[in-house]
Amino acid sequence: MKSASVYALRTAALVICGGLLGVVAASEFKSLWKDEPVFPSSGLTRQTRLSEYFPGLAGTPGDTDVFVFEGGGPGANVLIAGGTHPNEPAGFVSAVVLIETIGVRGGKVVVVPRANASGFTANDPQEANPMRFTIKTAAGSRTFRLGSRLTNPVHQWPDPTLYQNPAGQMLAASEVRNLNRCYPGRAKGYLTEKVAFGIMELIRREKIDLGLDLHESAPEYPVINALVFHEGSAEIAALAQIALQEEGLDLRLEASPPNLRGLSHREWGDAAGIKVILVETPNPVQGRLKGRTTESLVVDGRDEDYLKAARLGRLFVPYGEEGIPIGERVARHLAAVRAILTAYAELEPDKAVDIAGFPDWKRVRAEGVGAFLR
Ligand SMILES: [Zn+2]
Repeated sequence: MKSASVYALRTAALVICGGLLGVVAASEFKSLWKDEPVFPSSGLTRQTRLSEYFPGLAGTPGDTDVFVFEGGGPGANVLIAGGTHPNEPAGFVSAVVLIETIGVRGGKVVVVPRANASGFTANDPQEANPMRFTIKTAAGSRTFRLGSRLTNPVHQWPDPTLYQNPAGQMLAASEVRNLNRCYPGRAKGYLTEKVAFGIMELIRREKIDLGLDLHESAPEYPVINALVFHEGSAEIAALAQIALQEEGLDLRLEASPPNLRGLSHREWGDAAGIKVILVETPNPVQGRLKGRTTESLVVDGRDEDYLKAARLGRLFVPYGEEGIPIGERVARHLAAVRAILTAYAELEPDKAVDIAGFPDWKRVRAEGVGAFLR
C-alpha cells in the first residue's frame, strides 16, 4: 500500500512538473510574438501600419510598423527598409537607430524596421541561434530578437514543391517565404507575397523616389560589404561609393542582375520605377564557417573559426582579432545611407532630403550602437 501511494505521489509530482515546464515554454514561445518597443525621436510625424497601404494585411502576422518623418520643405521621398531578413541584425538595428534619432526638414523618410515581421517570430531551424541579443545603452540594456531569414512556417505553410514568384522566376520551395524573392508581390498570394505587395503599395502611395533595403550576408559570401544597385541607380551608387572610399570605407559596387527576379533591387526599380540600392554588411552569425553561435557573437562579431578562415583566405571581407561588431556594421549602413542620399542630391538637386540629427557613422563605430539608441 505504502509503495503504491509513493508511486501515485511521484506520478502526480511529475505531471505537475511537466505542466509547469509547458507553461514556461509556452510563455517563452509566445513572448517571441511581441514586438520589442521602438522609441521614435520627436521628429516622427506619423506612425502607421503596412495594412494602411494594403488592407489585406490587417490582422495578419505580416502587418508591420511604418514610421514616417516628413519635413515641410521640398525634397525626395525615401523608403528605408530593415528586417527584410530578420537574421541580419545590423539592417534592422540601423533602421531602429534612424527612427530614434532623425528629424526631417525637407522631403520625407519612411522607415519600415521589420519588413518581414513574421520572420522575427521564429529562428532559423537547426542553427542553434540565440533567440535574442542585447545592446547596452546609457539608460540600460535593449534586447532585440534574432529572427529567421524566412517567414515563420506557423504563419505560412506548406511550401509548394517549386515556387514560381510573382516576377515569373522558378525558385526552390522555401523561397516562397523569403520576402526578398517575392516582389512585386501578389494581393491574393501567400502571406509573404502580400507583404511584398503591401510594400509596393507603400512605395506607390507615399510617392517614394528612392528605396534602400538594408541587409547583411555571411563573410564567406561574395556579395558583401556592397552596394547592390538597380541600373537606374548606377550613377548614384558610383558617386556614393567614391564618397565612402574618401571617408575610408570600402564598399564594392554590384549591379543587380536583370535575370535575378523578385528582389527589391530588381522589382522596386522595374515595377515601381524608383531608384533602389541594397546595402550589405558582413554578419558573422550567418555563414557556415563560424563556431558556436552565441549572443555575444551577434553583438561583438568575434569568432575564432572566422579568424582561421580569414588567414586561409576563405573570406570576402577583412576579418581580424577584433571581429566585426554590430556597431561597425550599423556604422557602415548609416554611412552608406548618408552617402547615397548625398549622391542623389548632387545628381538631382530637387531630390535633396534635409535630415537633422543623422547619426555620425564614425561616432557609431567609436562609441557603439547603444549610444544612439534611446
Ligand atoms: Zn538579406
